Amino acid sequence: MKVLLIGSGGREHALAWKLAQSPLLSEFYAAPGNPGIAEHATLVPVNIDDHEAVAAFCREKAIDFVVVGPEAPLVAGLADRLRADGLAVFGPSAAAAQLEGSKGFTKDICARYGIPTGAYQRFNNAPKAKAYIRAQGAPIVVKADGLAAGKGVTVAMTLDEAFAAVDDCFEGAFGAAGAEVVVEAYLDGEEASFFCLCDGRHALPLATAQDHKRVGEGDTGVNTGGMGAYSPAPVMTAEMVERTMKEIIEPTIRGMAESGHPFSGVFFAGLMITEKGPELIEYNVRFGDPECQVLMMRLKSDLLPLLLAAANGTLDQVSADWSDDPALTVVMASKGYPGAYEKNTPILSLPQAGDGEKVFHAGTGLKDGALVATGGRVLNVTASGGTVAEASTRAYALLDKVRWENGFCRRDIGWRAIEREKA
Ligand code: AMP
Repeated sequence: MKVLLIGSGGREHALAWKLAQSPLLSEFYAAPGNPGIAEHATLVPVNIDDHEAVAAFCREKAIDFVVVGPEAPLVAGLADRLRADGLAVFGPSAAAAQLEGSKGFTKDICARYGIPTGAYQRFNNAPKAKAYIRAQGAPIVVKADGLAAGKGVTVAMTLDEAFAAVDDCFEGAFGAAGAEVVVEAYLDGEEASFFCLCDGRHALPLATAQDHKRVGEGDTGVNTGGMGAYSPAPVMTAEMVERTMKEIIEPTIRGMAESGHPFSGVFFAGLMITEKGPELIEYNVRFGDPECQVLMMRLKSDLLPLLLAAANGTLDQVSADWSDDPALTVVMASKGYPGAYEKNTPILSLPQAGDGEKVFHAGTGLKDGALVATGGRVLNVTASGGTVAEASTRAYALLDKVRWENGFCRRDIGWRAIEREKA
């Protein structure tokens, strides 16, 4: 089977690493890829925003299957364009990708199908949004409706913070994404991520994870794309997984099918485990980054037939086998991230990874043949272990062998799970 992988981050390196182990694979390409992905696939310099160019490449190489990693090409309709040529594609249509692309769309599905989530209203002007906020009181959550690179959400502890967030949205801080605003009840509990494949009709639960969004230790400081993650999430007991499938995932699949936009791809459900049980915070329509890295470390099954089954509507005929050993990943970022940071700083050497260890490339490039850091989040140092504590010890031991002056990381990834293990 000839496969093309779309994307260039740590998530895609993890997918490439797993896909490359498949005996079903004959040729493997990645667009645009990165130096880590190049260990497994031939990189092709096709512009992934140019859907015609991607389709032409697939014709030229007689590609059988395309796996789309990031959300932006999905929301832009790349999967639809390639399916029009008869290709098998992993990833939802643009219409189904609205589950991530529009928070209001998702909340409306929740309301229609009785999916547990915070009470909400949608607004297209500031005075009405503020009147609703005043009536509800703080804490309260204000969200730009569209994709805002993870920055469009304000968890406001005071009314003034909420009003300022509303003004930001309508004054264009998030561009078109903020033209509509969702105001939502604050949910109290522990967060967890739940991943599940879907083929339009059937769902195959994958695994759970928890991530660390804040830049600083103890989960303090500003929000980032994610500074680390581990899997499984201890808060997601078998009972919580079962309830999530029944109360959240299955009604969503039904809702999407009935709306005429059946969902195929991966559901990444951001959950709050409240005293009532799992409640939906948001859907993403692609694997999490860096959650994907820990999922791939724990997946024992061949990934390729699973993704194919999601694309072909045969998910009821496959199963996924997972290692019980937890996996943990630590993000190494450029100093200054998520603010301004220096680009093209040299990464002098990466350590040799042993069994159950891997350094994934997230934001690297080659300059005059030498490895450099090109992004904010640059490396994902990943390890498994008998416990989260052991996985953490192994990941940090590996990380300490990375020779990159301009890199930094949090030293406490997994702290909550490690404290639980101690207790
Ligand atoms: P989102 O982009 O929707 O995942 O939101 C980003 C973060 O904001 C989440 O990971 C939560 O930590 C927080 N958040 C979002 N919605 C709520 C809510 N209704 N109650 C409490 N926290 C929330």
